[in-house]
Amino acid sequence: MKIIIIGINHAGTSALRTLLKQNSDLEITAIDRSDNISFLGCGIALSVSSVVKDVDDLFYSNARELKNMGANVLMKHEVVNIDTNAKTVTYINLNDEENPKKEYVESYDKLIYATGSSPINLNIANSNANNILLCKTYIDALKIIEKANDELIKSVAIIGAGYIGVELAESFIIKNKKVSLIDAKDRVVANYFDDELCYELENAMNKNGISLHLGAGVRGFEKNEAGFVTGVKTDTGIIKADMVIVSVGARPNTQLLPNATKIANGAIIVDEYMKSSIPDVYVIGDSAAIFNTASKTFDNVALATNAVKGGIVSASNINGIEIAKLKSVVGTNAIHVFGENLSSTGINEKRCQDLKIDYKVVQWTDNDRPEFMNEFNKVTVRLIYEKNTLRLIGAQIHSRSTKDTHMESINMLALAIQKNMTIIDLLTTDVFFLPHYNKPFNFIISAILKALDLCYLKENY
Ligand SMILES: Cc1cc2nc3c(=O)[nH]c(=O)nc-3n(C[C@H](O)[C@H](O)[C@H](O)COP(=O)(O)OP(=O)(O)OC[C@H]3O[C@@H](n4cnc5c(N)ncnc54)[C@H](O)[C@@H]3O)c2cc1C
Repeated sequence: MKIIIIGINHAGTSALRTLLKQNSDLEITAIDRSDNISFLGCGIALSVSSVVKDVDDLFYSNARELKNMGANVLMKHEVVNIDTNAKTVTYINLNDEENPKKEYVESYDKLIYATGSSPINLNIANSNANNILLCKTYIDALKIIEKANDELIKSVAIIGAGYIGVELAESFIIKNKKVSLIDAKDRVVANYFDDELCYELENAMNKNGISLHLGAGVRGFEKNEAGFVTGVKTDTGIIKADMVIVSVGARPNTQLLPNATKIANGAIIVDEYMKSSIPDVYVIGDSAAIFNTASKTFDNVALATNAVKGGIVSASNINGIEIAKLKSVVGTNAIHVFGENLSSTGINEKRCQDLKIDYKVVQWTDNDRPEFMNEFNKVTVRLIYEKNTLRLIGAQIHSRSTKDTHMESINMLALAIQKNMTIIDLLTTDVFFLPHYNKPFNFIISAILKALDLCYLKENY
């Protein structure tokens, strides 16, 4: 069987490794327009703040490893067309300076489409000024780190207060830059958390010197005569900056499959085997829209965690292992900045309102261990559930402890959502109690008792 993989970053690398681990006889061609694979973007902010000492440590694989496994790996080759009727892929060789437009055609039995996503750029006045950067690739990372170490760059404006923007803001404060964080929304990380927990993060950012400009739409950039950015024009005024990072989201790279069934942002809908609506075409990673059990919609949850799972599932299906399925995603995520630990899964209140879901929410704050122990720390949980069925559809956890963050508890709540469990199912789940770790009624059970109006315990604000 002949398989072509387009895109060999996280999703494509995972598919390729799985395919050949399960069946070393497969004929695989893997094509990527970049010159590197497996770059972990999560380490960019950590490199700016020098937690990661060498940005090259952020790779976990390379073309040589995949070639040694038996694949034909074409780096710096770009796929320019796919004929899904003839089952062929057309690509050009970006290394070939003499014939840059020469096209090569290769046929496939199965196609794995793993072209991921690209950061959205702002097409506004002066957006071509120098020192306006994006944040995704290894090349982006090198540029950002170089500027972070440049003494002449005193102030940085970050546009977009999602995960990437918030993490970068912290890292530039550590680098002693003056930092402005700008977002059209009136909350930071508003897609994942409810106001109550967003405030905690915003307070911490304010205290640590970040200038927050929320509810500020960006209209353009100012630049000097040498062409370097000097400021960001917003609805609420001009924010001076020697450097700007645009992190306003990503768009799936799905233009090569115009006839596939897609959701509004262009991500391609796939089934539990990662099959698209086009025969023999699997779509994985940031290009895919997967069923979300919480919202009951197909969502583009652009996270590396889902990308690698999609790779395992698509490869297993091609190799005839039907049991491997990715039935749903729930967008489980976490963030750690300025000592604040936050994690969430499922959908938040805003999304419930947009989807017109009749929901209820309960929030519980308590010490994580009994007060008779030497050490105990505050932890807060929010549970969002359907009002009529009590089905859990969202959860968020916040703590400040460095010892037990309780962030991993979100994984149990994610599983509960994926399995369509109610808060009563959760209440009766057989979980342990040991004073070293938790209370007889741990913070999740206490929240459920409060939701059911059965709570006789006292909250600790
Ligand atoms: C700064 C940052 C921090 C992040 N932090 C986290 C985190 O902490 N946790 C987490 O789970 N996720 C995180 N993510 C998200 C994660 O990086 C993405 O979900 C992941 O990269 C998706 O992998 P992918 O393989 O689907 O797509 P991509 O990483 O986008 O890779 C797609 C590949 O396809 C290639 N390609 C595209 N078009 C073509 C073409 N026409 N021809 C040939 N090749 C092509 C590209 O060159 C690329 O190598 C972060 C992302 C960023 C930017």
